[in-house]
Amino acid sequence: MTPSDLASTSLIVATTIVTLGYFLTCVIWPFKACRTCHGAGKLRSPFLRSYRLCPACRATGLRLRAGRKAWNVLRRLPRNHRDR
Ligand SMILES: [Zn+2]
Repeated sequence: MTPSDLASTSLIVATTIVTLGYFLTCVIWPFKACRTCHGAGKLRSPFLRSYRLCPACRATGLRLRAGRKAWNVLRRLPRNHRDR
């Protein structure tokens, strides 16, 4: 085994581990805090104590992860489209 073989093998193994870890994260924690309101669900006004509901997350404070969104799209495809 040459050093370049070892390097490419370890790169493939590391990429696989990171990918599987991300998919596991998408299964266990499908949501992230909304980037617009930082998970609060509402946006504060700079004046007084007024606020409005966050339109990006519809006031939930949650955003679905990109990996989980892709998984949901794939899962909703009909079976004959999935196997192509
Ligand atoms: Zn939000």
